[in-house]
Amino acid sequence: MYLLMKKPSLLFVNISVFVITGLIALVLVPFEAIVHGFDRAEIIACVFLIYFSGMSITAGYHRLWSHKAYEANGLVRAVLAVGGAMALQNSILHWCSDHRIHHRHVDDNERDPYSAKKGFWYSHIGWMLRDYQRERYSDYSNCRDLQKDKIVMWQHNHYLAIMLTANFGIPILLGWLNGDIWGMLLLAGVFRLVVVHHVTFLINSLAHIWGRQPYTDSNTAKDNDLIAFFTFGEGYHNFHHIFEYDYRNGIKWWQFDPTKWLIRGLAFLGWTKNLRRCPEERIEKAKVAMQLKQAQERASSLHNADELLVKIQAEYELLAQKMTEYYSAKKQLMELKKQSLQRSYKSMEIYQKYQELKTNLAEQKQAWLTVRRADFDLLLAN
Ligand SMILES: [Zn+2]
Ligand SMILES: [Zn+2]
Repeated sequence: MYLLMKKPSLLFVNISVFVITGLIALVLVPFEAIVHGFDRAEIIACVFLIYFSGMSITAGYHRLWSHKAYEANGLVRAVLAVGGAMALQNSILHWCSDHRIHHRHVDDNERDPYSAKKGFWYSHIGWMLRDYQRERYSDYSNCRDLQKDKIVMWQHNHYLAIMLTANFGIPILLGWLNGDIWGMLLLAGVFRLVVVHHVTFLINSLAHIWGRQPYTDSNTAKDNDLIAFFTFGEGYHNFHHIFEYDYRNGIKWWQFDPTKWLIRGLAFLGWTKNLRRCPEERIEKAKVAMQLKQAQERASSLHNADELLVKIQAEYELLAQKMTEYYSAKKQLMELKKQSLQRSYKSMEIYQKYQELKTNLAEQKQAWLTVRRADFDLLLAN
């Protein structure tokens, strides 16, 4: 006897929104560009609103509300709530509930709402086209903390009105001021919406498929500089999935993460605070643990694998030990600084030791790089 698994029913409202806005962006907008052209004000408004609504998702929905990576005052939260509604990705409460499940059950095809293991199409947009989530659609029990946030609940209870006002009201007002409502609606309204939809959807799809895994391979999330460029910094998704409470996704200063810069910039004004960072020691240790794994995998296919594996293991253990020593001295030094004891004799002693450990660690890092390269050179020589 065959048991036929019936697919969940199609969600016609979602399908219509994606198809209609997609067609307008692909057909009507280029048509208008050729026939009429768009003026500078329309282009500036479009780019500005891409950043405004897109970063309301990344800085607001994602890092502030889903992960509580920092705190923000009422004004910032209200602006992000309106911008997020403008991005048309459901209410904060609903989005965060899905996203917390995504982190908890990442890649689990039964539970992760946009599991990348179900393929690009499903994780990008397919998951929103059918009623896959019917059983738990209004279950917000994993977001009880957010239900205490008045702005979150205001946005949830008046979502349709806020979403329509932001999506039509803002472009109509700007168009009226600029003397062409239709042009502004097309470019800063619909085209902007479609762009923000698909770039943010890329975080669930492509950022789980294409890129490096410097911190963990226990899930499909990847780091990718190009995706980060188009997703307001969220392309450093491998880092994000292991250190999700960190307000940064791109942790190096040169990594393109405008969401991180926005959060930090608002902290200078005192509008955001308690920006959470994962301790550097944990980040560095996760990274070298992955390097060990990758070096072991590469070495095991070589003819002198046994010898190489012993060497790699030994250098790794030395590195881990030197890291522990260095970070513990650093911590001691920071504590003394906090107590304003940096001029004390004890502090001088620790500072000297810290400098010594820093040099030791740098040397060991070099040795680690050499041993990891050594097996690679052998591979090339063979
Ligand atoms: Zn993810
Ligand atoms: Zn996340």
